[in-house]
Amino acid sequence: MNCTFETAISAWIRSSRLPRFPGRGVLSSLWMMVLVSLATFAKASEVDNMRLWAAPDHARLVFDLSAPAQADVFTLDNPDRLVIDLEDSRLQANPDHLNLEGSAISAVRTGVRNGTGLRVVLDLKRHVEPRYFTLAPNDQYGHRLVVDLEYPGESAVEDPIDPIEAMIREQEIVAARAQAAGQASEEETNAAARALQQAQPHPKRDIIVAIDAGHGGEDPGAIGPSGTREKDVVLDISRQLQRLVNDTEGFRAVMIRDGDYYVGLRQRTRIAREQKADFFVSIHADAFNSPRPQGSSVYALSQSGATSEAAQWLANSENRADLIGGVDGSLSLRDKDEVLRGVLMDLTMTATLNDSLAIGGQVLDQLGRANRLHKSRVEQAGFVVLKSPDIPSLLIETGFISNPDEERRLNDPVHQRQLAQAVHSGIMVHFERNPPPASLLAWERDQERGSSRDEYRIQPGDTLSEIASRHQVTLSQLKQANEINGDVIRVGQVLRIPRS
Ligand SMILES: [Zn+2]
Repeated sequence: MNCTFETAISAWIRSSRLPRFPGRGVLSSLWMMVLVSLATFAKASEVDNMRLWAAPDHARLVFDLSAPAQADVFTLDNPDRLVIDLEDSRLQANPDHLNLEGSAISAVRTGVRNGTGLRVVLDLKRHVEPRYFTLAPNDQYGHRLVVDLEYPGESAVEDPIDPIEAMIREQEIVAARAQAAGQASEEETNAAARALQQAQPHPKRDIIVAIDAGHGGEDPGAIGPSGTREKDVVLDISRQLQRLVNDTEGFRAVMIRDGDYYVGLRQRTRIAREQKADFFVSIHADAFNSPRPQGSSVYALSQSGATSEAAQWLANSENRADLIGGVDGSLSLRDKDEVLRGVLMDLTMTATLNDSLAIGGQVLDQLGRANRLHKSRVEQAGFVVLKSPDIPSLLIETGFISNPDEERRLNDPVHQRQLAQAVHSGIMVHFERNPPPASLLAWERDQERGSSRDEYRIQPGDTLSEIASRHQVTLSQLKQANEINGDVIRVGQVLRIPRS
C-alpha cells in the first residue's frame, strides 16, 4: 500500500466526527469495506515480469503487473528511443533477461520517475510506431500492459488484392485460351494452341500453400496436462508441412508465422492474400475440459459465416472501387454494377467453400490413416481465419493436447511428420485433380492431354479396326469415344483414343 495515502486516510478518519469507529457491528464492517476498496484502488503496481516477442513487422513487449497501472508511451528521436512510463509502479523483474534478438530494441534501461513511478527506456535500432493497451486478467495471465512497436514500411500487407479482381484475372486467362482454341478449325487447334503458347508462355507457376501455425507469442493456445503448449507443437508440425510442400515440384509453401510471435487473425488471411495463396491451412491442437477426447478434426467455414463475410467484403470494396473500375474498361465484368458484384462475390465464396470442403475431404481421408479421427466428416464453423472469400481454407485440429497420450504424441517428431504428411497428401490429391489454370500442374496435364497417345489423325489407307488394335483399344471403344455409328471415316479426321 502507498504510505502517504494510508497516512492521509487514517488522518482523515481520526479527524472525522461522524464515524466513531465503534470497533464492532455493522458500521465497522462497512468502514472496513470502504477502506479495503480504497486501498485496492490506490495499490502500487509491481512489474513481475516482462516478455518480448519479435515478429518481422513488429515487436511486442508485455508487462505483467500485480495491479492495473496508468501508462504513458512515447517516442524520442536522435537516437530513436521508446519511453514507457508507469505511474506508481515498481520493477520486480530483471529486464536483462529479455532476449532482444530479432527485435528493433538494442537495450533496455529502467529508472524511478517522480519518486513512485517507473520509467522504462528502450534504445532502438530504427524508428517505430508504438501502440499500447492494457488487458484485464484472464485464465493465463494477470493485469498486463501491452506495447507494440510497429515498423513502418515492414507491414506484411500494404495493398490487399481484391478477390473479385483476382477472380476476373483468372477468368481472363482461361477465356483467352479458350477463344484462341475455339476460333481455329479442328485441324488448326493444335497449331493455334502452340502459337498461343509461344505468344503467351504458360506461366507454369507454383501452387502456393499458406501454412498458418495457430496462436504464438503471448497466446500459447491450449496447454496440455504436462505443460505442452499448442503454439509450439503446431509450429513444429507446420514446419514439417512446409518442408514437404517445398520439396514437391510445382508447389511452394508460405509460412504465416515463422517464429514465436502473435499474428492477428485478420492479418493471417491478409498475408495469405498478399502471397497469392491458392490454399490456406491453419494448424491447431484441440483441448477439452476432460482428458478423454482424442483424434484429429478438419474444419471449413460454415455457410452462415461465409455469407456475412461476403457482405463485409462488399462493404470494404466500396473504398477500393478504383481497383475494379480503373484498371481496364474493356472488360465486360469490370464495369458491372454493385448488384452483380454481390452475386459474383456469393458465387466466388460458394465456389471457394466447395473447394475447401473437397480438399478437407481429401485431408481427412489421409489423416484417418495417420491418426484416430475425432470427427469423420469435415466440420464447418465460423473461424475468422477461414473467411477468405477467394482462397479455399481449412483449419485442422491435429489432436487433443488435453489428452495425455495424444499430448505425448503431438510432441513426438515422428508423429508430427505423419500428421504433416497426411495434410500434404490430401492437398496433393486435390490439386493434382484440380490444378489452377496458370499452374505448372495444369500445364503438365495439358501436355498429357495433347500428346499423340490421346489423338490420331487418319492417314490414307487406315481402317478403324487397324487403328484400334494399334492403340490397344477395342473397335467398339474407339467408335464409342468418337461417336461413330457406321464404318465411314475420312482422311485427316482426328480420332480421340480412349485410355484403356
Ligand atoms: Zn488453437
